[in-house]
Amino acid sequence: MKTTQLLIATQKEAPNDAQVVSHQLMIRAGLIAKLASGLYSYLPMGVRVLKKVEAIIREEMDKAGAQEVLMPIAQPAELWQESGRWDQYGPELLRFKDRHGREFCLGPTHEEVITTLAAQYVRSYKQLPMSFYQIQTKFRDEIRPRFGVMRSREFIMKDAYSFHLDQDSLQQTYTLMHQTYCRIFDRLGLDYRPVLADSGAIGGDASHEFHVLADSGEDAICFSDKSDYAANIEKVAFTQQQQTATPSAQQASVLTKKKTSIEAVAQFLSIKPSNCIKTLIVNTSEGFKALALRGDHELNEVKAHNLFGEFELASDAQIKSLGLKKGFIGIKALGIDLVVDYSASIMCDFVCGANEWDYHLTGVNWQETVFTQADLRNAVEGDNSPDGQGKLVIKRGIEVGHIFQLGSKYSKAMGANVIGESGRAVTTLMGCYGIGVTRVIAATIEQNYDARGIIFPQSIAPFQLVIVPINYNKSTRVKTLADELYQLCLTAGIEVLLDDRKERAGIMFADSELLGIPHRMVLSDTHADNAKVEYKARNSADKIEVNYDEALSFIQSKIK
Ligand code: ATP
Ligand code: MG
Repeated sequence: MKTTQLLIATQKEAPNDAQVVSHQLMIRAGLIAKLASGLYSYLPMGVRVLKKVEAIIREEMDKAGAQEVLMPIAQPAELWQESGRWDQYGPELLRFKDRHGREFCLGPTHEEVITTLAAQYVRSYKQLPMSFYQIQTKFRDEIRPRFGVMRSREFIMKDAYSFHLDQDSLQQTYTLMHQTYCRIFDRLGLDYRPVLADSGAIGGDASHEFHVLADSGEDAICFSDKSDYAANIEKVAFTQQQQTATPSAQQASVLTKKKTSIEAVAQFLSIKPSNCIKTLIVNTSEGFKALALRGDHELNEVKAHNLFGEFELASDAQIKSLGLKKGFIGIKALGIDLVVDYSASIMCDFVCGANEWDYHLTGVNWQETVFTQADLRNAVEGDNSPDGQGKLVIKRGIEVGHIFQLGSKYSKAMGANVIGESGRAVTTLMGCYGIGVTRVIAATIEQNYDARGIIFPQSIAPFQLVIVPINYNKSTRVKTLADELYQLCLTAGIEVLLDDRKERAGIMFADSELLGIPHRMVLSDTHADNAKVEYKARNSADKIEVNYDEALSFIQSKIK
């Protein structure tokens, strides 16, 4: 392709709302254009990249034996009522009515639709296992769309669903999808990690996320420094521990006027926050509960959700109505259930609120307090790895994929049965497997850029090679040689861009570097005098002179 036929929409400045590098560079390189919050158009260069990512995913999904389908983005409310998600799904689900007043939503995911299809068309155990996938637009009315296409409201997902007769078969496909995802992310040239992920109420290790490691990632990923253990912080599970220290202090009440935070109390008493207990009050469907954590630990909301279902932190008014004093809540005589985190339960001689305004207790121990224990907290750097090997290190990750064993959750609700070998109806088991196709592009850029712009891995670059002729529109000699090389490359099947614009060399270089095209060949009158072309790789500063006659075989050897 020639640049004069293409919309080159590069720009010098990034918009103010672009906080992360990938967002800035995708706009500056003219890959995407913002339409409204969380809504982006893909410009021609962006579409070329998108199609390449899609092609890799499609090839690998086909290889894994999944069949491509394409389902509507608009979905009738009845399906979501059948699965129970019409009420469960929050405001991320964009709901609307058609002209007849019937309710619909824009699909944030497609379990309901695919399960209905399977119920209709997959009727016999002989058809199982069977997998479907699509590459299609999703809509989620995200509370805070940000980082460009990394967290947008409309985005493209590859979603796949598998149907099985039994758990063994589900496990087999799950393992195959795990391997397939690794192949996809390897081909995309990403530095990624599969990690254990939370699987909510279903439990078990039946879910993995794939994270691209990057400082801009929204997730915290925990790794053992001694083993292969890797998990989303949401999922790092701790078990009950033995108390090692013995209580020795006398409990006393101290005036801690206006010291309502752990930090303030710890500083005032010259102790570490880890010697304090913080008590949170939450409102659950079973009523109010007090949660006690070590002062330096944070509540893990996913764990709390798995224990209590929907919950929220109690408001000031609710705390007051319980007769408790915010900032001075302790562990004794609370009048509501007390749940103590495992790490808090082995502390002794600690500090906590006195349940009295302006007072804390020191030298407190758990004796005579009634409570239950649970795993409530987030992991912190240096925690023992749950597999017993090494300590945890925490890094940031961008979730690009998620695989999940759903079991019979949807198939039961939506009647996806098959006739089993015995002639009786059997509920199928399901797996689901997602990749954020558009997020993958942003994540790739987060790992591959420099001061000049994007450095696309060859597998998804919009073009493999750019030919930059100097004075193309003035020197017939340069034009003839450049056109000839361009034709040779085209014939050889190389994705080549010929920069035939009447622009200064500096601008042409800057654009191809911003766009991250992996290989560049420059042709000028001086090169022509010596029958040479100049080669430069985007990811190297070296410029190499190559004989013009050997330019094609040279570039072929680079691209292979
Ligand atoms: P997140 O935790 O980032 O909100 P999720 O767990 O809700 O994602 P899934 O439902 O597992 O996401 O969707 C599958 C994949 O779709 C994710 O792994 C991610 O790559 C992508 N994805 C999810 N939400 C968005 C979004 N708002 N914008 C772009 N990609 C997204
Ligand atoms: Mg997820």
